[in-house]
Amino acid sequence: MAQKIVAGNWKMNLSLQEGLTLISETTNMLKDEKRNDAKVIFATPFVYLHAVRNLVEQTSGTYLAAQNCSEHTKGAYTGEISASMLASVGAGYVIIGHSERRLYYNETHQQLAEKINRALEENLQVIFCCGETIEIREKNEHIEFVQKQLAGSLFHLSNEQMKNIVVAYEPVWAIGTGKTASTEQAQEMHAEIRKYLSEKFGTETAQNTSILYGGSVNAGNAKELFACPDVDGGLVGGASLKSRDFTEIIKAYNP
Ligand code: PEP
Repeated sequence: MAQKIVAGNWKMNLSLQEGLTLISETTNMLKDEKRNDAKVIFATPFVYLHAVRNLVEQTSGTYLAAQNCSEHTKGAYTGEISASMLASVGAGYVIIGHSERRLYYNETHQQLAEKINRALEENLQVIFCCGETIEIREKNEHIEFVQKQLAGSLFHLSNEQMKNIVVAYEPVWAIGTGKTASTEQAQEMHAEIRKYLSEKFGTETAQNTSILYGGSVNAGNAKELFACPDVDGGLVGGASLKSRDFTEIIKAYNP
């Protein structure tokens, strides 16, 4: 069984004070709940990781993620952040291959594969993002497109390494647009991803890999998306910036 996960990607938003408040409010609201077994991840800007670490670690079931890391181990790469630096400030996860990084920073399959290697060397868990643009979906090439992303950055890994990979399917046309994939569209792609992983890594690894949906998830649509058999949770952008909304999304897993 794949672990259920709800991850909030803050992107380049919030001050440190606002971030601390958001984490405190969210974890306080969750304390009063009969907790489900979904892991909650806060993916904060790099510079906040160290400062929010204690707060996140105080609450069981909550984890800290970075939003990117360098493909290099260390050295003369001004402005870059290595996977070992992330591990040293308490990040347990790192998002790799978000569509905004692929688009604005031209990150390639090969570069993402290297970033994943660096993250795994530091025992970080990777949230690997994939997803098609609207043009690709309209040409009905979305499944092949996502398969290429998976093969290009994950298929060099061993089954053992795949235990540390979470896949996030995020159709680019649904990110930050308010247009969510329908449950049929989400389930279709998630099932295809699992099938493709199973062809490469076997059924057990595929069944145990968490596949999250991302793209305008909110308190109103989380429950039906998370109810899809191959959707193991969500990667949430905008709605993760408000404690009440994020908490409601996490609670979508409550019995
Ligand atoms: C994201 O950026 O990962 C995302 C899913 O954003 P939003 O929820 O705002 O669409």
